[in-house]
Amino acid sequence: MSNDFTVKNGGISVETEHIFPVIKKWLYSEKEIFLRELVSNACDAVTKLKRLSSLGQFEEDDEAYRITVTLDKDEKTLTVTDNGIGMSAEELEKYICNIALSGAMEFIQKYEQGDEKSGIIGHFGLGFYSAFMVADTVEVWSKSFTGAPAVHWTCDEAGSYTLEGAEDRPRGTSVVLHLSEEGKEYLESANVRSVLNKYCAFMPVAIFFEDGSEPAKDEEGNIVPAEPINDTQPLWMKPASECTEEEYKEFYRQVFGDFREPLFWIHLNADYPLNFKGILYFPPLRSEYDNMEGQVKLYYNQVFVADNIKEVIPEYLLMLRGVLDCPELPLNVSRSYLQNSGYVSKISAHIVKKVADKLNSLFNTEREKYEGFWEDIKLFVEYGCLRDRKFYDRVQNSLLLPLCDDEKEFETVEEALEAAKESHEGKLYYATDKVSQAQYISLFRERGIQVYLLTGPLEMQYMSLIEDSKQCKFLRIDADIADALKGDGEVMENEALVALFQKVSGNDQLKVTFEALADTAVPALLNLSEQSRRYEDMMRYYSRGESFAMPAMTEATLVLNSNSPLIRKLAEVTDEGALENAAAQIWSLSLLAQRQLTAEELKSFLRQSYQTLGNALERL
Ligand code: ADP
Repeated sequence: MSNDFTVKNGGISVETEHIFPVIKKWLYSEKEIFLRELVSNACDAVTKLKRLSSLGQFEEDDEAYRITVTLDKDEKTLTVTDNGIGMSAEELEKYICNIALSGAMEFIQKYEQGDEKSGIIGHFGLGFYSAFMVADTVEVWSKSFTGAPAVHWTCDEAGSYTLEGAEDRPRGTSVVLHLSEEGKEYLESANVRSVLNKYCAFMPVAIFFEDGSEPAKDEEGNIVPAEPINDTQPLWMKPASECTEEEYKEFYRQVFGDFREPLFWIHLNADYPLNFKGILYFPPLRSEYDNMEGQVKLYYNQVFVADNIKEVIPEYLLMLRGVLDCPELPLNVSRSYLQNSGYVSKISAHIVKKVADKLNSLFNTEREKYEGFWEDIKLFVEYGCLRDRKFYDRVQNSLLLPLCDDEKEFETVEEALEAAKESHEGKLYYATDKVSQAQYISLFRERGIQVYLLTGPLEMQYMSLIEDSKQCKFLRIDADIADALKGDGEVMENEALVALFQKVSGNDQLKVTFEALADTAVPALLNLSEQSRRYEDMMRYYSRGESFAMPAMTEATLVLNSNSPLIRKLAEVTDEGALENAAAQIWSLSLLAQRQLTAEELKSFLRQSYQTLGNALERL
């Protein structure tokens, strides 16, 4: 029996003619958020009641707090029921008809002014009226915890509503959505479940989903009590000291569906005034096929808002995976507001500091383990250093350089600089490919010079960063003749040999110089100026797929080793044919030691080699 209550009719449309069409038009693409809004309202209703109970204004009974989402395919309704604070008729009129409406109005006005459609993060703040994105009629049944008479409110999509007394009902609120044509996908249980999993997986009140299917039974035929779809106490809310390693790994698997283990993680817990919590994981990124894009999920009081919000988290940290719960964030504001917000930049600075601290502490206390992770975290660390000078400053003592050395895998940048300062004037020699540059590498290694292996896509910029900040110079091993490679012996001068090599290389501008190298087995080395090579690499990188004509190697220098018996012999030979053939072959070999030959170069190299073999055999 309904209680004694005068029926009220109202017309929301009088004040806000266009509200429903606008909600539908503007938010169509993200209509799934209606469920987040309704379930989080239900959560709030429970939280409010809990607070009243803690203040002694409400006496709790045995009934557990819960939210139930019910799908009724026959009736075409989706209902969200809570046993929270409830509303009296006056409250319903005030909160739903006035406040919620004005909230929605304000939201839409803001929204309509913005030029970008996705201007407001996750469309937070639309609230109750987002229900009309999927429903043509919405009913609210409510009974306040105060014992005020139960009420029933119903509103159609034109905005006219009826508020009347209702039969007594248990404490709390039910919001019934009569799904419209636009909302018919939510008649599918799987669709509702997936939206619940996305937004409500960590909400703080137990949520049950009932879709009319038979309840599960155990072996003896007893009904198994339904499990909530959410975890009301997500790991990030627990103090780090109470979380076990297994719990962190399990949480990672659960949230990111990744069967591999995270390398390590950081539990964030910033106090007032920042007041946010979260866990950031370093995923393994070893293979180039791994998806470099991580996933950082943003929550607002355990309610999922969105993935990868660049405005809150520095872009490079988005290579990581994790969850951040920021209850202080003003989420119903535009992205550009967030970009300029001092609060957001403080959050971001705090996270950067924590990530750097973690890397430094791993490096300082568990260097071996840290070295083991380096290949996985290198891209992230280098990218972070390039994007954020503060991050670089913080981690600069924990940066590693891989070595081309059988005994030792890494040196830190600091260690490398220390060694370079002492022995070769701050020059650091590096290789980009262990195989094709093997001859150069062994020339350096035999003379005890470290060669660093820099192979990643960011190395060029990363090197420049270190060069600028540390006053050092990175040189690829084919860039110049390091002093340590030089040996005793007189450096010859021979104009005829210069002209000969210019001729066989087909480049009359080729620079040919002489050095007395310690290794007498090497007749010639081709050097490329570091600067012009970096420039060429950069051009090649930017032109990517497009064909890129390699400029003539004007910056290349052919260094002839006057300690090499071959070169000495060449200076004496008079037979022009033999001389040219030998020089051409030395030229090809010096090219080959430096890079892959082009098809033409390879063909002529093979021809020369056969000819040389032929000549040698003839002399037998
Ligand atoms: P917001 O939640 O941002 O305040 P809404 O439009 O979602 O805006 O809701 C407006 C108000 O209606 C809420 O602040 C609350 O007072 C009331 N309300 C909505 N849903 C419920 C509910 N399930 N139980 C009790 N009160 C509710």
